[in-house]
Amino acid sequence: MRAAVLREYNAPLSIEDLPEPDCPSDGVVLRTIACGICRSDWHGWVGEHPRVKPGQIGGHEYCGEVVAAGPNAQFAVGDTLVAPFILACGTCPQCRAGQQNTCFDQRLPGFIEPGAFAEYVAVPRDHNLARLPEGLSATVAAGLGCRVTTSWHALTGRAALQAGEWLAVHGTGGIGLSAALLGRALGANVVVVDVVQEKLDHALSLGIDAAVLASDDTAAQIKEITGGGAHVSVEALGIPVTVNASIRCLRVLGRHVQVGMPVGHTAQMDVDMSAVYQGNLALYGTRGMPSWRYPSLLGMITSGKVDMSPLIAREVALSDTSAELAAFNGPMPPGVAVITDFTR
Ligand SMILES: [Zn+2]
Ligand SMILES: [Zn+2]
Repeated sequence: MRAAVLREYNAPLSIEDLPEPDCPSDGVVLRTIACGICRSDWHGWVGEHPRVKPGQIGGHEYCGEVVAAGPNAQFAVGDTLVAPFILACGTCPQCRAGQQNTCFDQRLPGFIEPGAFAEYVAVPRDHNLARLPEGLSATVAAGLGCRVTTSWHALTGRAALQAGEWLAVHGTGGIGLSAALLGRALGANVVVVDVVQEKLDHALSLGIDAAVLASDDTAAQIKEITGGGAHVSVEALGIPVTVNASIRCLRVLGRHVQVGMPVGHTAQMDVDMSAVYQGNLALYGTRGMPSWRYPSLLGMITSGKVDMSPLIAREVALSDTSAELAAFNGPMPPGVAVITDFTR
C-alpha cells in the first residue's frame, strides 16, 4: 500500500510502498477514504510532538471502509466508520467512568502506531468507532476523528456552554472554526479572533456573530462586543498570546477551555493568573472526546442543525501532504485540507 512516512523532521514525507497492515483481533482494517491534515500532525512533523518519532505514518483524522474484521470486532467488512483519535481500552477506571478520552491505556494511530496517511489503516478496539451516517460525506466526516469531536466535547462536556451565552474562539483553524460553528448551533452568540482577515470574513459569512482581528486590544474588544466579556472562551492554538487573550476576554466566573495543544517551545508559558484569580475564572484542559458522545454530535449534523462542510477548504492527494504540513508554519487561509486521493 502507499503510505506517507515521516523519515526526517521538517522534510517532505517519504511516499513508500509498504505491506498492508495486519488485522487486529479486536478491531478492523480500514481502506482510508478520507484523512484530514491536522495541526497535531504538523507538531509531529516539526519534531515538537512528544510522541511522534521518525518512521511514523501520521494521520489521525480518518474515515474508512472496513476491508478486514478481527474475530472480536463489532463491525463487519463493508461498514464505513469514523474513529476518535484516542482509542480507549474500555475497562480502566477512566473508561468505566465514561471519560474514555482520558483512558489510562490509549492506542493512538497516527502518533505512536501507523496512522491514516496511507491507503489502509489498522484500527484496534473498534468499540470506539461509529458508523458514518447516511448522507454525511466521508470527507466532512474525517473531521469527526479529531477537530470536530474535540470541539464538541470542549463545549458540551467541559465548559457546558449554554444557549444565549457568549462564546469567544481564539484561532479559527480547523478546531476553532468547528468550535464556532458548533457553539452557534448550540444557541450561543459567537465571536471569533484571528490574525487573518480572510478567515474572519469566512466565519462571518457562515453566520458567526462577530469577529476581531487579533491585536494587543483583543480582550478589550471582546468585552465591548459581549457587554462585559465572554462566558466561555476557547483557545485553539496553544500559544501564549492567544491563551492570555482568551483568559482576559472572559467575564467574571467565565470558563477558559484549552483546546490548542501547548507543546514543544510553547509547552511552558506565562499565563495571567491574576486575571484568573480576580475574575474567579475556571480553566479547563481538554483533549479528544469520549466516543459515547458521537450520537449527540452526529445527531446535530444529520438533523441539519449544523453544517460542518464549510470546514473543508480542499481535497488533496497523499503526495500533497508535505506541502499542507509546511503551510502550518505560517498564517493559513480559511478551512482545512483532507486527503481523498491515496493513489498519487
Ligand atoms: Zn481505558
Ligand atoms: Zn488532530
